[in-house]
Amino acid sequence: MKTFSQVILAACLTASISLVACAKQKTVEAEKPAVASTFLPTALDSSGAGAEPNPPSIDADRAMKYVKEVVAFGPRPVGSPAHKKLEDYIYAQLKGDTVEDDAFVADTPAGKFPVRNIIAKYPGTRDGIIVIAGHYDTNYPLRDTGYVGANDGGSTTAILLELANHLRGKKQDGYSVWLVWTDGEEAIQQWGPTDSLYGTRHLAERWDKDGTLKKIKAFLLTDMIGDADLNIDKDANSTASLLSVVYQAATRLGYQSHFFARTIGVEDDHLPFMKLGVPCADLIDLDYGYNNVFHHTPQDTIDKLSPKSLQIVGSVILETIRMLDAMKP
Ligand SMILES: [Zn+2]
Repeated sequence: MKTFSQVILAACLTASISLVACAKQKTVEAEKPAVASTFLPTALDSSGAGAEPNPPSIDADRAMKYVKEVVAFGPRPVGSPAHKKLEDYIYAQLKGDTVEDDAFVADTPAGKFPVRNIIAKYPGTRDGIIVIAGHYDTNYPLRDTGYVGANDGGSTTAILLELANHLRGKKQDGYSVWLVWTDGEEAIQQWGPTDSLYGTRHLAERWDKDGTLKKIKAFLLTDMIGDADLNIDKDANSTASLLSVVYQAATRLGYQSHFFARTIGVEDDHLPFMKLGVPCADLIDLDYGYNNVFHHTPQDTIDKLSPKSLQIVGSVILETIRMLDAMKP
């Protein structure tokens, strides 16, 4: 009897594509060898070159360097000295940029904690804002276990810093892009509506009051996007039409095999904005290790990550921005 993996191996050899790439594929892709063989060569190109003449990309090695530096601060839960050091580190990287914060004191089951969302603004020529967000705090209950959140907190902090390098110093030919390092995403005791998403609940309310929400054309959230085995889930709690643009962007770059093989509903930093009518897409890989075993454990370390995954997600975000900019209002 042939095992499932043997069937896949046979299919891979037939299609003359590498075993490494096949190992990443799930049944959905295995059933579509024609599509896979057409796009895989470009997906494996380290430059990120695909069907586009000038595909947008980020410096993945520099993004990985940021992850290393962020993780070196140690556990970074709200209220910790390392969290404060990380705030200062983010500000230092954004020197010269237009940066605002949304700072407040959150009331949590473990007492009051300072929470600070950090917002960097890169103006565009077109009326409207695209927000790219990701959290920088790490899990609170695991704070004394040596947990460093390389993927959950680290990868997103880093990819936003690298996107800032990409956006800096030139007027965006389209919508303004705002990068938001969200804070207090993690639960303090037990995940629930009042114990989680402290930063984004505050920011969504603030932007609702001051009129900013109406200008947001898309809210793209990143979370746990550094896993070397990158499988971005299709989030049932996101806006379908925006997910469709993301998938088109991924397909144009030849990265679609890393996107949306599985549909799940995710509770994440986009929810407070979704509830207020902002189009949102959560780009999250909740298959971190077999059965997600590395998630929220001290195993969430940098050796599980790959610069290639950061590059894929960074490129797809930039291509998504380009496609949204090209759309009619
Ligand atoms: Zn988490």
